[in-house]
Amino acid sequence: MIGWYFNRFVEQVDSYEMPARFLRVVAKKYTFGETSGISYTNTWLNTMDINESQLASLKSGFRPGGTLGESTMILTLYHESTHAYLDLKENEQKFKEFIRDGTAYYRLAPLQGGGTADDPDRIFQEAAASYVAHRAATWYGAYDEIESYREGTDEKTWEGHGDKAFYDRVETRVRKIPGEYDQAMRDRMFGYQEKRGVQVSTTQGISARIKAFCDDEILEGKIPDYFVKSEFLERRYESLLTLIAQSRTLVPVEVIKK
Ligand SMILES: [Zn+2]
Repeated sequence: MIGWYFNRFVEQVDSYEMPARFLRVVAKKYTFGETSGISYTNTWLNTMDINESQLASLKSGFRPGGTLGESTMILTLYHESTHAYLDLKENEQKFKEFIRDGTAYYRLAPLQGGGTADDPDRIFQEAAASYVAHRAATWYGAYDEIESYREGTDEKTWEGHGDKAFYDRVETRVRKIPGEYDQAMRDRMFGYQEKRGVQVSTTQGISARIKAFCDDEILEGKIPDYFVKSEFLERRYESLLTLIAQSRTLVPVEVIKK
């Protein structure tokens, strides 16, 4: 039954023009379960166990602008699905080369707190999964924020409050969204391995090759480095600025309260 919710999630993010092709492949080949611990993908058994609170969020559904805390769930599902997808594709030539080169890239990579990597395969897998998840969640976060300001603006306007300071505040905040998106997309520090039972991050940023492969093959070129390059986000952003400008010039009207 959890697979049904996962499929619904895939259709939903697809409708936002987010990367969904690889999620669909995973949905077809994997069995989904629940865990009280951290979400975990078992690439031997082709199972993905989702943490119970994230599963609750998956089941209850979400919408951009809504108030549910769906960002962790999105991060988790894109992360775990990347592990699953790389495993499902590992025998395809270009994936085989990607995994081989990526693993070699982290051989003896520096670790936080000193020392070097002795599990480059794990670091590579986590780096790719975390990179993909970070990109998808950042993109969705910007969309979510835009829609939540749209709802706030609508509400204020229909209540008939011509509060100029309110629109100024919202506009100032909204105009920061593209820059914050660009800033988050510059992050290149991903990947960790376990050392004596604890997660230790690498201090070596992902390579240009890993980034390009994840951007093209997994994220379908849909999550650009710059906000202005996303037609979808640009459209939503410009229409919100227009709404704010129009709302500001509206003459406050009396609303008949029932
Ligand atoms: Zn992972």
